[in-house]
Formats: sequence, structure tokens, C-alpha cells
Amino acid sequence: MYRIGIDLGGTNIAVGVVNENYEIVAHHSVPTGASRPAEEVIRDMGDAVEAVLVKAGVSIDQCESMGIGSPGNCDSERGVVARAYNLGWFDVPVCAMLQERFGIPVRLSNDANCAALAETVAGAAVGCENMVLITLGTGVGGGIIIDGKIYAGMRSAGAELGHMLLVLDGEPCTCGRKGCWETYASATALIRQAKKAAADHPESLLAQAEEITGLAVFQAADKGDAVAQAVIDQYCVYVAAGFTDLVNSLAPEMILLGGGISRQGERILAPMREYVMNNCFGQKDGAIPVIKAAALGNEAGIIGAAAL
Ligand SMILES: [Zn+2]
Repeated sequence: MYRIGIDLGGTNIAVGVVNENYEIVAHHSVPTGASRPAEEVIRDMGDAVEAVLVKAGVSIDQCESMGIGSPGNCDSERGVVARAYNLGWFDVPVCAMLQERFGIPVRLSNDANCAALAETVAGAAVGCENMVLITLGTGVGGGIIIDGKIYAGMRSAGAELGHMLLVLDGEPCTCGRKGCWETYASATALIRQAKKAAADHPESLLAQAEEITGLAVFQAADKGDAVAQAVIDQYCVYVAAGFTDLVNSLAPEMILLGGGISRQGERILAPMREYVMNNCFGQKDGAIPVIKAAALGNEAGIIGAAAL
């Protein structure tokens, strides 16, 4: 038997057929065209499913279920995208619409939750029943797996981990609050911190960079720039301070780090582990999780959706 995973993004709809080992056997992608009415986008999602089945040489009868990973707030119980600003979707019953067309069960969850689930079935957390995936990007995304299942809370509104508080009355957040973790720990925040350091230290390589990107900060540190290294050291503390709260509240077996910055590997993971060990409840005798990089890249959305 196979399962179908749909990774619905603001730019592209990626659809895949996965086998029982959660390997993608065929893949198809079409532009989302998010400015159109939801009905049209969902019709294209269905057409993409038909196209990927042809590519896979698999019929819909050989598919057990279909899953959708969507941005925004998704009510998994009702199969409704409640609020997705980058799609312009409000209360869209996407599961019912695809179920009617294909006649197999269709499940829905938030894309960050799907990515976390994907890591437990086919990535860096296989066999791990309690884990958290943190993705550092424009914001800080979070997915919580408890007893092998996504924990999403009432109306699937939970696991907004980027909006835990790090600094009371700190930096303004897109959510309306001030001092959320993501305003210090996102890739966007790293760039803001580096720009400030560049302005304060005109002698730094950062000040000479054509454009300050996340990667540029690490490259400057590679060339021995102490200002860039200090920015990275402080950034690792911001990220690890949030990890410590997750350890104290959930005691997961594992925390996985995703997003482009996670490709920096041990140079950021090692100081984060050390911070968690020195600051979590019980310190080195506390419930210290494994902290490492996520293994799945772009495929996580499809695999996680299929695993719903
Ligand atoms: Zn916030």
C-alpha cells in the first residue's frame, strides 16, 4: 500500500507518493497561485495528485490515505485550514473537498508538525516517541511529538513555540507581543543582530560585507572575525535558552534543529548542548535530550503529510 503526501506552500504545491518505508516513489510539483480562490487551488492539488499517481504507476485504490501539510493554523479534527495568511485561506474545508474527489481518508496538519512527524518516521528521530523539532527560518517553527503523535492542543492552536517568551517587553514580534523567542532566535533575528554588530564595529568583516546574510556571519567568523563569532555565540545562547525551556516543560528525548542554519552543524550544536546542560533543571543530572540537526530537507513536508 501507498500513501499520498501534499506539501501545500505559499509558492508551490508539492505532491508525493510514499511507500510503506516512507520513501517518496514519485514526486510532482505545481505553482500554488495563492491569489486565486481556494477552490481553484484545491482543484489543482487534486490534479497534481492524479499526475503523481501516473508518474508512480500507482492507482488510487492502492493508496490507503492522503495527508496535507499546510501553513497557518489548521484544525486537524475538522480537516479545515482555519487561518493561513499567506494563502488567504480562512475556514477552508480542504480535507472534505479532496476526500469527496478521491474517496480515501484525508488528514491535515500544520507544516511544522508534519516536518516533526516526518523526522520520526524517516529522519533523524526514527524510533523516538517524544521529540521536538525547531526550525529556524524567517520565524521559529515548532513541532511537538508526544507518544509518537503530533501534539497540537485545543483547536490545533498549540506548538507555537516561536512565541514563547524570551525577554519581557523585548523585541516586537509579528504576533503582536514583545520579546518572543523567535524575535531573538530566528534566522531573521541573527541577521538583525549581525547588522547591529556591524554598525557598532566598523572594523569588523561584517561591516565590509556586501550584504549581511545568515551565511555571511558564519563566513566572517571562519575568517577569524571576532565580532562575527561573538554574534554567533550570543545567538546560540538565544536558541539554547528556548531549548532549555522545552527541556524543563516537556523533557523530550530529542530536540532536532532544522532550517538553513542547522547546516552549520557542530559549531552551533555543541555550544547549544553545553548551555542546555548547564541551565536546565538538574543541570548535568537533568533530563538532557539528544540535540542534533534534522535529517530531512524539502522532502519532510511530503513525508510528514503522508504519515498523518
Ligand atoms: Zn510572537
